[in-house]
Amino acid sequence: MKITDVYANGQFGLSFEIFPPKTEAGEAQLFSALEALMAFRPSFVSCTYGAAGSTREQTLELTVKIRQVCGVTTAAHRTCVGSTVEGIRQWLKEATDLGVENIVALRGDPPKGQAEFEKPEGGLAYANELVALIRQEFPHFSIAVAGYPETHQEAPSPAVDLANLKRKVEAGGDAVITQLFYDNRDFFDFRDRYAEAGITAPLIPGILPVVNVSQIQRITSMCGAKIPASFLTELEAYRDDPSGQIDVGVRYAIRQCRELLDAGIPGLHFYLLNKAEATFRILEALKLSG
Ligand SMILES: Cc1cc2nc3c(=O)[nH]c(=O)nc-3n(C[C@H](O)[C@H](O)[C@H](O)COP(=O)(O)OP(=O)(O)OC[C@H]3O[C@@H](n4cnc5c(N)ncnc54)[C@H](O)[C@@H]3O)c2cc1C
Repeated sequence: MKITDVYANGQFGLSFEIFPPKTEAGEAQLFSALEALMAFRPSFVSCTYGAAGSTREQTLELTVKIRQVCGVTTAAHRTCVGSTVEGIRQWLKEATDLGVENIVALRGDPPKGQAEFEKPEGGLAYANELVALIRQEFPHFSIAVAGYPETHQEAPSPAVDLANLKRKVEAGGDAVITQLFYDNRDFFDFRDRYAEAGITAPLIPGILPVVNVSQIQRITSMCGAKIPASFLTELEAYRDDPSGQIDVGVRYAIRQCRELLDAGIPGLHFYLLNKAEATFRILEALKLSG
């Protein structure tokens, strides 16, 4: 199935994002998590490409394996990092041959040891250029792109970031999946500005359930998202109690998702970090499936 069809005619899209594990044990854990979560009939599972220093080699292979083992539609992420245009073209040809239907097109995080993204020699500088390349030369793919309710860290202003997002969607983005956020007001404000800018692609909130306070502080400081003070205080109270932290994180995500669902979102995208428990509990409480 194509991402374009997932959200067509007001259908609700439930999606999960995973990353390629580095070890066999990690892969076994990932597949057991996915197996559990298939009960919620996700619309698609997406697999990252080199995110936070992870491997870039396994994305296509894993995307195919998940489709075969779990019988679910998949999407392969692709970035502009460390590649020439010709290298990206080769990868897109391989994806085509492997029957991949959906690409999440990104500029990418800077590789490990590099503070800022640098345009590779003979490569691409921004995600909109990658989207245009895919749309022009590989029109059979459906394309999702990234959006930032709290504004991308490098953007000089929310307005400039939104104009850049609009350019990316106009280049061929079929749906926008957001960076994680914990204050729904940021999402609702972004959604209003998005609509005012005339962007009509489905806007899908990205949800990362908190399972560990130190981990989430690390992640949010890297991607520039805020954790509301009252939520952080609640989590801090359970710093020495791992299962208490998960309970707090799950309760928060249930409330957050309920409010988003009541506001008519077209789908939810869960960042699984390759684990099932928190997302399973949230979806069960919400009685949600794709
Ligand atoms: C849903 C989702 C999935 C992700 N998956 C991955 C992954 O698999 N691998 C990974 O490495 N990272 C991933 N990321 C992180 C992402 O790569 C980073 O956030 C990165 O810093 C920006 O990527 P982008 O595609 O949004 O870039 P862009 O859209 O190119 O934007 C990057 C910055 O440049 C500005 N900009 C954009 N276009 C232009 C232009 N034409 N001229 C001037 N300025 C411009 C934007 O305002 C922004 O500040 C993901 C993020 C999200 C939200």
